[in-house]
Amino acid sequence: MTNAQNVTGSEKTVGFNPEPVYRVGLNEFPTGGRGRAWGDVPASQWNSWIWQQQNRVRTMPDLERVVDVTKDEHEAFDKSSELFNMAITPYYAALMDPTDPDCPIRLQSVPKMGELTVQPEEMEDPLAEERDMPVPGITHRYPDRVLFYTTHHCPVYCRHCTRKRKVSDPGSAAQKKQLEDGLEYIRKTPSIRDVVISGGDPLSNSDERLDYILGSLRKIPHIEVFRLGTRNLVTLPHRITDDFVRIIAQHKPFYVHTHFNHPKECTAEAFHACAKIADAGIPINNQMVLMRGINDDPQVVKRLNHLLLMMRVRPYYIFQCDMSQGISHFRTPVEVGINIIEHLRGHTSGMAVPHFVIDAPGGGGKIPLIPNYVLSKDDEKVVVRNYLNKEYVYPQPKQK
Ligand SMILES: *Cc1c(COP(=O)(O)O)cnc(C)c1O
Repeated sequence: MTNAQNVTGSEKTVGFNPEPVYRVGLNEFPTGGRGRAWGDVPASQWNSWIWQQQNRVRTMPDLERVVDVTKDEHEAFDKSSELFNMAITPYYAALMDPTDPDCPIRLQSVPKMGELTVQPEEMEDPLAEERDMPVPGITHRYPDRVLFYTTHHCPVYCRHCTRKRKVSDPGSAAQKKQLEDGLEYIRKTPSIRDVVISGGDPLSNSDERLDYILGSLRKIPHIEVFRLGTRNLVTLPHRITDDFVRIIAQHKPFYVHTHFNHPKECTAEAFHACAKIADAGIPINNQMVLMRGINDDPQVVKRLNHLLLMMRVRPYYIFQCDMSQGISHFRTPVEVGINIIEHLRGHTSGMAVPHFVIDAPGGGGKIPLIPNYVLSKDDEKVVVRNYLNKEYVYPQPKQK
């Protein structure tokens, strides 16, 4: 499904030309490759985000050209298409292992029968984002910051999406009017100083519209920073063209928040896209979602976070899987996340240690979960342990 919004302009492909391999020390960031289906596509098309959008894997015959489709995937595709479409960019699809159905890229993008099981405790809107909506398109929950939805489109429909209720549903596309109403709400609410621009993926908006959104926010005196939340760095890095970067760099200071989940996603293309954004002076943070069979292993997360730091992306959050409908097959016990933090803190750079949080069901917001380092505490002293489980005593100050 390519809509007009996604394919405006023909010069947008200029300036995406990654080197075949990026290297940092002994670490290689190889190009993603062409998979089984796209060996003949010329680089000029492959590196065009418009071509990537227009040639997404959306049907069963498309998918069969790329991987050995399993019985489970076949059945899940037939049954899930009305609930939540499949769409995968050729670039991201080419990262899938064609013979391994448990490939972490494949698990994130190809429907599985697990999606059709809806647990009684799962919800359409687990974070009650609709309840805290003063106007359509804005979720205002925390005192000083809001979520601002600017489109419902994404290049790839992640199977673990927390906003399945909206994403990929063409009937609910954010219209210009909704955008204006959202901006107007932010303008007349001086307590807001930080705006999370979200969706869908905001980069499914044209450059012109993004320029307008960022520029409009920048003009509001009480807005200090904003964040552009996008997974295009992972699923469609070709979207980060010279034109795009030149336009967004005019609206600093702001941050890009992205969503890498596995070391396999750290390719030369992703490296190149992150470098362009970082070179423009825009810091990048990562928000990983913890998922069974994908990244529920401290060694996988550590490797991912090391690769991200080399790409100048700072690990920011690890999210416990939300209670969205049909994603129970991805959920892990909370101990898994706490254990990952236990294996990072102290063992590696503090910069590689994100916050592990649960976004509380029902709209309680993000709540951090950390290993317990405080063994006892009174007015005189605190007994703490370090990452090697050695105990230390810290005397409290005499007067408080
Ligand atoms: C996650 C979120 C934010 C941003 O939270 P930070 O902890 O500042 O990153 C803001 N509003 C809503 C509704 C959110 O879910």
